[in-house]
Amino acid sequence: MKKIAVLTSGGDAPGMNACIRAVVRTAIFKELEIYGVSYGYEGMINGQIKRMHSYSVSNIIQRGGTILKSARSEEFRTAEGRKKAFQKLKDFGIEGLVVIGGDGSFTGAKVFFEEYGIPTVGCPGTIDNDIFGTDYTIGFDTAVNTALEAIDKIRDTAAAHDRIFFVEVMGRDSGYIALECGIGGGAEFVMLPETQTDLKQVTKSLKNLRKSKSSSIIVVAEGDEEGGAEEIMEKVKTKINDPDKEFKVTTLGHIQRGGNPTARDRVLASRCGMAAVEGLMMGKQNCMAGIVNGEVIYTAFEDCVTKTKHLKDDHLKLLEILSI
Ligand code: ATP
Repeated sequence: MKKIAVLTSGGDAPGMNACIRAVVRTAIFKELEIYGVSYGYEGMINGQIKRMHSYSVSNIIQRGGTILKSARSEEFRTAEGRKKAFQKLKDFGIEGLVVIGGDGSFTGAKVFFEEYGIPTVGCPGTIDNDIFGTDYTIGFDTAVNTALEAIDKIRDTAAAHDRIFFVEVMGRDSGYIALECGIGGGAEFVMLPETQTDLKQVTKSLKNLRKSKSSSIIVVAEGDEEGGAEEIMEKVKTKINDPDKEFKVTTLGHIQRGGNPTARDRVLASRCGMAAVEGLMMGKQNCMAGIVNGEVIYTAFEDCVTKTKHLKDDHLKLLEILSI
């Protein structure tokens, strides 16, 4: 293998740049030619491919976003689109791929590998932490810390005015961000897509809590089955039916994707990036490089996208016990 390419795909995550840097510099260290594909699979189809050098990744380890840009590509979902992408890689003589992205990007990589056999290793880049085969994903730690900082600030104003705040965090299908923010931010309740929320119980507990506490924080994952924070707040407000009580909603939104990556994300991203290139050189393909119990592990894309990484029971128990 002489030439490889790297791309970022799907939702951006803080730490993707640190990962690109590790891929580029490891490839150069191993005397490979390294190419960067802009705009994910869409850029592959359009041939937006450029040679990268050590200096191409200077001064990016601390930056959020991705210097290669990211995109979602409808065309890559079609056989015709993937054929075009393969042709472009062939034109550049690229023999291996590193895909930094989430489960959707790995599904795409798997389909592409099965059709064209270009060895591909993935790095888990998503704030959701919902990928099987790695304890943490690149961007998760930064997203949680960003949300936590906001929750701490909301708590100050909630306490000053005796308000009940519903804070919506990201996580359409996964409650990892909400769970960690809930524990770290001392939330009274956390509503997650993975667990059933009994609104009657929430209302009852909030009424009881109000005897000892004047303000409350409820963290809601955007994918909760009861709806978003606004909808849940309205339901709880109606049930509590107390005109003296103030209810507020804050949706944190895209701030959770931005910002400088934490040290943990930079190190994780660097380790996964190096492992992806080393994996390709060892003959690994159609798999992701992740970190499990502190060690680099390669997990087949098939398992990454079909197996569920479950929330830890003791985390759920912690929430229940500490929110009394
Ligand atoms: P995040 O978890 O942050 O949303 P992701 O990698 O899961 O990131 P997706 O938008 O789901 O993001 O997927 C990224 C891209 O992967 C899609 O835009 C599409 O081009 C490609 N892709 C996803 N699923 C498939 C598929 N079944 N076949 C081919 N390509 C796919």
